[in-house]
Amino acid sequence: MATACHAAIPFRQMIPLHEAQEVVLAGCKPLTPVQVAYSDMTGRVLAQDVVATEDVPPFSNTAVDGYAVRAADSEQSPVELQVVDTLAAGAEPKIAVNAGEAIRIMTGAPMPSGADAVVMVEDTQRVGETHVLISRSAKVHDGVRDAGSDVRAGETVFVPGTVLNAAGVGVLASVNARTVRAFPRARVALLSTGDELVVDGSPLRIGQIRESNLTMLDSMIAATGCEVINLGVVRDDEAELERVFREVTERCDAIVTSGGVSMGDFDVVKAVLSKIATMQWMQMAIKPAKPFAFGQLQSSDGRTIPIFGLPGNPVSSLISYELLARPALRKMMGHTENLMRPAIHAVLDSPLKRKQDGKIHFMRVFGEFAEDGRLHVRDSGPQGSHQLASTAMANGLAQVPDGNGLQVGEHVPVYLLG
Ligand code: AMP
Ligand code: MG
Repeated sequence: MATACHAAIPFRQMIPLHEAQEVVLAGCKPLTPVQVAYSDMTGRVLAQDVVATEDVPPFSNTAVDGYAVRAADSEQSPVELQVVDTLAAGAEPKIAVNAGEAIRIMTGAPMPSGADAVVMVEDTQRVGETHVLISRSAKVHDGVRDAGSDVRAGETVFVPGTVLNAAGVGVLASVNARTVRAFPRARVALLSTGDELVVDGSPLRIGQIRESNLTMLDSMIAATGCEVINLGVVRDDEAELERVFREVTERCDAIVTSGGVSMGDFDVVKAVLSKIATMQWMQMAIKPAKPFAFGQLQSSDGRTIPIFGLPGNPVSSLISYELLARPALRKMMGHTENLMRPAIHAVLDSPLKRKQDGKIHFMRVFGEFAEDGRLHVRDSGPQGSHQLASTAMANGLAQVPDGNGLQVGEHVPVYLLG
């Protein structure tokens, strides 16, 4: 059974979102870079220059399937040449192309000596076993890819801070950078609190609800590029929570909690963290997700572990993860750009109703790019902080300024989610 916590915790006035974001970002430092296998680099940030040690491609080769020729021979096309060899990709040329000769050659095979152009097979016709008719003249270098034409040996292909996409990982492979120094994935411990939460699918008693945040946040944290240490639901018990926090601090880089950070009497996360961590309990001028906690725990080996205390209401949890935890985790993993998702100025296809209350409202919207090239959005359903179903139908968060809402045709900044 939870004990009521009446610890006197000083609450500040509501603060603007950007102030909370500044506090959180200032409290999260990039992790120490490590050696990473190139194959685990997708989406990760480099902490070193990558300099090619080899030419890519390593040798001059053919860009097409066809016939390697001397361009001068094809000038008077159509012309018949003698086929003296066949080269597959991976084969080593053994004989040269002399005047009046051609070599059948497949894409990627090294250019044989003597040849200076490749006529694509579509512009040729085989004549018996031994000859080929070249029906279109080739210029010197046609169909040829030079050694080093993608990357030159000695060239710097990537600088520190580069975020590697799928093509980037391909480049690491192509220049034989087997391991690189890069920012690690943050190991993020995740836990949910609340004695009312049922996780195991058993029938609900009065007062109980089904836990919905753990898997949702787990997938959001993983999508941020982190490793998740999912601790499940921890009971509203101070001693148990303290034990869990202390234990996981030793083996994680950050902690995300759901629930127990607002003004309730049984907000035990607040009671425990106030005791063992340096915390800031915030009330942000946004709706939903007004309560938010940020703090730091020290591990026994001297590391500072940031804690993101998200409110338990599912939509609030999602939105404060998105606006505060995600940018900070990205910073820890070496990102310097697009910590927040870029906001796109969208056109409203439905009104977004709200009341004036001194807060920015983040409203769930569904958006599509229309023929006018603009993002058009409409609200995705009811906007209460417990109404996750309408959030599941949304692909964006519209940032609606304080006031009486926006009308059809008005513009609104929208953060497109994933
Ligand atoms: P709290 O932030 O703990 O005060 O919880 C606020 C509201 O969110 C309460 O109605 C809780 O029952 C609900 N809630 C808290 N955690 C979860 C969760 N993990 N899944 C679903 N609802 C939750
Ligand atoms: Mg609770």
